[in-house]
Amino acid sequence: MAAGEAPWSFAFAIPPATQGLRMYSSDFLHGTEDPWTRPISAAHKMVETLTVFDDVFVPWERVFFYNRPDLAGAAALTFVEFHRFTAVSYKLPLLDALVGTGFAVAQANGIERAGHVREKLTWLAGYAETVRGLTQLAAQRCLTEVGIAYPDVFTTNLAKWTFARDFHHALDTVQDLAGGLLVTGPSGMDWKSPEIRPVLDKYLRGAWPADRRMAVINLISDLTARTYGGYQAVLAIHAEGSLEAEKLAMFRAYDSKRAIGLAMRLAGLSEN
Ligand SMILES: Cc1cc2nc3c(=O)[nH]c(=O)nc-3n(C[C@H](O)[C@H](O)[C@H](O)COP(=O)(O)OP(=O)(O)OC[C@H]3O[C@@H](n4cnc5c(N)ncnc54)[C@H](O)[C@@H]3O)c2cc1C
Repeated sequence: MAAGEAPWSFAFAIPPATQGLRMYSSDFLHGTEDPWTRPISAAHKMVETLTVFDDVFVPWERVFFYNRPDLAGAAALTFVEFHRFTAVSYKLPLLDALVGTGFAVAQANGIERAGHVREKLTWLAGYAETVRGLTQLAAQRCLTEVGIAYPDVFTTNLAKWTFARDFHHALDTVQDLAGGLLVTGPSGMDWKSPEIRPVLDKYLRGAWPADRRMAVINLISDLTARTYGGYQAVLAIHAEGSLEAEKLAMFRAYDSKRAIGLAMRLAGLSEN
């Protein structure tokens, strides 16, 4: 922190119902939606807020520290490093869902043997398993000197950066395999109509019958193309810190001595 900013170095925790604390909710993912076209987001809601402290009284017993610039950096970084580790951990089921729907829709569309499709599915699986492997490595490399397992900073940020950097490519890969029905498919009302349904069953079948094919396509649409998909796309890039924040943390945490030492030895130079 810069000179004169010490009074801004504080941390506390208070209940959400405290007087003067206001949370202005985002309108993403609100309301009831059709569970046929939105199998995930109709059931699961996430609320984000702009949180404003307007003349809030914070009792001293709720204050972790105040006027301690020496603690401010460590407090912020400790939050971020655990937060990024939880991020890459909780993202794994989402990545598995993208890989799984990629394989399923390739079969539903009858294209799973095509060379370009196998290449795309291999990339998707490799991406998800790279993030999983880096997350496990961050845990295995944890520091224990502080009395708790502290995830390795470089590997945690590498895992998060790898996840965020390639997430949009994972979305376009699954969308490519699925086809345009992601946004041109019928509504749940038409699907339920006894008059229209036989037409949909006839024209929307692929290698799988229409009901199974559309269930997978609607899941992909919810995960990648509708409101929830847009939310996840921004979440990947910005939540838990943006891409540049992850690279900054990696550069700071990387211990370059071993690599430089090897380069010096190979060049026949002393390390000084
Ligand atoms: C769905 C969601 C949930 C979230 N939940 C939480 C939460 O629970 N708790 C929490 O604390 N935060 C949360 N966040 C906030 C998140 O941590 C921030 O959005 C993230 O750190 C990026 O900051 P920002 O949004 O201010 O974007 P910015 O930092 O403004 O980024 C926009 C662009 O500006 C660039 N930029 C920023 N600063 C500089 C600079 N000095 N020089 C050059 N370029 C710069 C960035 O690299 C980026 O390209 C959440 C975000 C999202 C999207």
